[in-house]
Amino acid sequence: MTATVIQDVPKQLCIGGTWQDAESGRTLPVDNPATGEELCQVADATPADGLRAAQAAVAAQPAWAATPPRERGEILRRAYEIIVSRTDELALLMTLEMGKPLAEARAEVAYAAEFFRWFSEEAVRVDGGMAIAPDGRTRIMVTRRPVGPCLLITPWNFPLAMGTRKIGPAVAAGCTMVLKPAPQTPLSTLALAPILTEAGLPEGVLNVATTSDAAGVVEPLLRGGQIRKLSFTGSTQVGRILLAQCADTVVRTSLELGGNAPFIVFEDADLDAAVDGAMVAKMRNMGEACTAANRFFVHSSLAEEFTARLTARMAALTVGPGTEPGTDVGPLIDTAGRDKADSLVRDAVEHGAKVLVGGELPDGPGHFYPPTVLSGVSADSALVRTEIFGPVAAILTFEDEDEVVAAANDTDWGLVSYVFTRDFDRALRVGERLETGMVGLNTGLVSNPAAPFGGVKQSGLGREGGRVGIDGFLEYKYLAIPTGA
Ligand code: ADP
Repeated sequence: MTATVIQDVPKQLCIGGTWQDAESGRTLPVDNPATGEELCQVADATPADGLRAAQAAVAAQPAWAATPPRERGEILRRAYEIIVSRTDELALLMTLEMGKPLAEARAEVAYAAEFFRWFSEEAVRVDGGMAIAPDGRTRIMVTRRPVGPCLLITPWNFPLAMGTRKIGPAVAAGCTMVLKPAPQTPLSTLALAPILTEAGLPEGVLNVATTSDAAGVVEPLLRGGQIRKLSFTGSTQVGRILLAQCADTVVRTSLELGGNAPFIVFEDADLDAAVDGAMVAKMRNMGEACTAANRFFVHSSLAEEFTARLTARMAALTVGPGTEPGTDVGPLIDTAGRDKADSLVRDAVEHGAKVLVGGELPDGPGHFYPPTVLSGVSADSALVRTEIFGPVAAILTFEDEDEVVAAANDTDWGLVSYVFTRDFDRALRVGERLETGMVGLNTGLVSNPAAPFGGVKQSGLGREGGRVGIDGFLEYKYLAIPTGA
């Protein structure tokens, strides 16, 4: 099946409903992170291709905005059904280009599809309002309009779900778009585009530009004045650059950026639940998630027991290619990702941490890094202030609630935090004091299409998913209607 799934994916740019090569004729390689070998080549868009994609989105905008909401919803619903029916092929493709084990890839396909189902339901729920002005002489009619052509930029770690989480609300709201996937994982997006066409999405509504020159392709689009909205998921560093580029033409922005999630285990926690939650919060996607637990704060009275149990669970994981049955942990995305995890572990050890399992770079092909547990981590270690993005659990200890809340909040990021306690009052109190957009209470998983996903501080702007997920793709418009009374 491997050869077929790769072969079946379009390898070109999708502009105005036509699949075409990059103007330069250039292509970029897509590699398998488990072997380092090339899977295939895809078109490598130039800035001129990017502009043509944006023009196609602009041209398609008026007719698309006029499409009945039910029709837009039905397209998403059909696309949801098709994705679910092709779970195996899409999961294999994702594992090949990104590395995650097949079971996790299947879970992502289901998660990705759910965004289409959710927004198929939201498409017909966009409402406005009518009010009488306080002086009684004017009716205020409020409607909501699509914001206009959007630029959607996605990362490599959840190559399908980050696309559907943006395309879903854009389609539901009546926006056209240019989607630029990460160069490491373009295939999931390239496989998704024909599914939307099959589901009835008109030409030009979704344009796809794969490129190795993200900076060169994106900047003219944001500064050009035609793109009205940017939805970006990626690093805080790139998010800042894009926010500055959006300033000139006041492009609306939604940013889902990095995280530095604290995972707090109080002295009254259910240890089984805490260890289960820790495995999910740390090891989902090999730790390559902005929601990954980055700093484990464990009450000193439980630290030994929690650490021993977590270490045993981590040691029992099987590392290998995601395509192998029985693999729990696939490779990291590339050499840079693996070297980053390695250097953060070395730095933590230099600052006094003890390696309880893992910590050694394996030989051989692929970008593997072993599940690693560090105890006695010093607050001065670089990984306390850096998004690890790998399978490394760093354990620190604490004595009381105020101390741990202060330590957890001592970061520029604010995406998610995890709290384990049996004390309901404490759960609510700490949940409110933590400066993050999301809090997992006795759970290591917060992602849910029906929930508003997003962060505070330098973790981003806006929310994706939930009832508010469509808001970023809509503008309010108010009509003043004098009644003369
Ligand atoms: P990561 O370090 O996890 O790859 P990035 O923020 O670099 O995260 O990448 C996320 C997305 O942003 C990818 O699609 C990437 O191609 C894109 N990207 C990276 N740099 C730029 C840039 N200067 N302008 C626009 N997009 C960029």
